[in-house]
Amino acid sequence: MSADLHIHTTASDGRLTPQEVIARSYEKGLQIIAITDHDTIDGLLAIQECESPAAKLTVIPGIEFSTDLPHHEVHILGYYIDITNETLNNQLRIIISDRLDRVQKMIEKLQQLGYNVSFCRVMDIAGEAKAVGRPHVAKVLVENGYFPSVKDAFNGLLEKNGPAYIPHYKLSPEQVIDLIHHAGGLAVLAHPGLVGSDEIVQQIINHGIDGLEVYHPSHDEEQTKKYLSYAENNGLVITGGSDFHAISGRFPDDLGIFTIPDIIAVKLQQAVSKRLDIKKD
Ligand code: AMP
Ligand code: FE
Ligand code: FE
Ligand code: ZN
Repeated sequence: MSADLHIHTTASDGRLTPQEVIARSYEKGLQIIAITDHDTIDGLLAIQECESPAAKLTVIPGIEFSTDLPHHEVHILGYYIDITNETLNNQLRIIISDRLDRVQKMIEKLQQLGYNVSFCRVMDIAGEAKAVGRPHVAKVLVENGYFPSVKDAFNGLLEKNGPAYIPHYKLSPEQVIDLIHHAGGLAVLAHPGLVGSDEIVQQIINHGIDGLEVYHPSHDEEQTKKYLSYAENNGLVITGGSDFHAISGRFPDDLGIFTIPDIIAVKLQQAVSKRLDIKKD
């Protein structure tokens, strides 16, 4: 009985549609999954009317927010968010529109640096994704022969504070945690090992995060143990997932390779019910 609580789709920078993710998860024997696209709930809207195999699979509504700190990339997962929440939807509209401006600015920067990339082609590559970003720009750079892989395009140009980097819409981890709580969800710090500073991880714990993504393909055994003890010592929920994008070279390129026991997902659900009960009292 296994689960995967971190999955991307074509609504952000994944390669499979939400329906394809569900079909593949079912094929791979997963029982519980969470769709967690970057800064959008579009993928969740797309499966609302989904027939089987979705019916046999529990799909937790999720999201992965990008927050903007001067020197660190902090991603915060929201689970069991109410996708009809007005404040959440208003904020997402602003973030998505800023992503479009940001890509335009990145393209201007790239052109100034001598790279021939067109905004139209980036939008073509992004397809139905409204949460456009660096992965789509990187693909065009690879397509135009500047880099052998998306990873290389990130390393040379697009990485945080790199030559073509433009910051995200300014949202602090505290604001994102509040927004997720306001939409009835639980806030979980994604891949704490990738934050690059345990001091910041500790600050985010102090800001009231509900959980830590202890199990992530980027974490080695030592990091997994460390974040497990952070979670236990601070009374936090534990989560994990493959960060599946269906793109090779970064994290597992198929579902069912990196999974967690589904009891972890059940505990996440219990934690959200407990929170809702407390709110009712
Ligand atoms: P953005 O949201 O536009 O800042 O892009 C960030 C996303 O790009 C991350 O969430 C990852 O999915 C992807 N990404 C980040 N670093 C790399 C990398 N080194 N190689 C490939 N993809 C990356
Ligand atoms: Fe991504
Ligand atoms: Fe992430
Ligand atoms: Zn992710």
